[in-house]
Amino acid sequence: MIQAQSGLPNATFLVAHETAHVAAAAACSLWLVPAWGFRALGASVAAGTLIDIDHAIAAGSIDPARMMALGARPPTHSLAGVSLIAVVVMAVFGWRPGYAAFAGGISHIIMDASAAPGVPLFAPWSTDTHVTVPTGTMVPTLVVLGLFGVILQRLALRSKRQKKHAKTTVFQRPSAIHHG
Ligand SMILES: [Zn+2]
Repeated sequence: MIQAQSGLPNATFLVAHETAHVAAAAACSLWLVPAWGFRALGASVAAGTLIDIDHAIAAGSIDPARMMALGARPPTHSLAGVSLIAVVVMAVFGWRPGYAAFAGGISHIIMDASAAPGVPLFAPWSTDTHVTVPTGTMVPTLVVLGLFGVILQRLALRSKRQKKHAKTTVFQRPSAIHHG
């Protein structure tokens, strides 16, 4: 077993690491707020940070040193794991928070995969628990997820406007009759 190092630098590392995860999850879901509200952002940030609870479970400890001393990240840090989390969130809170949780989770595992020791990205189909992606992958990931957020937001706002328009049309119909 890998010897745990002194607690303080590890704790600092953990805080910095989670802050980066919050920022990444927020960056890809901030766009959803105007249409879906802060619940979507909350779901995304929650999924993008709470996924690391699997480290605590796997290490059997919340001591940062012991969590970081794990040989590999747990299988939840995979495309399948994130999809599973999204499905659960979707079932409980609806598809919007479900999508947001998916985006937050993806931003998390891509960030973790950007440096050694990598993640079990294709678990349970692959036994490679140290899959890494090129360091720059985080940029297109955030751009794609952000763009997706913008598109979903625009679609949601448009359908909201159409509903409102349909309502006013019905309401104004009597006055719209031509008295010629
Ligand atoms: Zn992680």
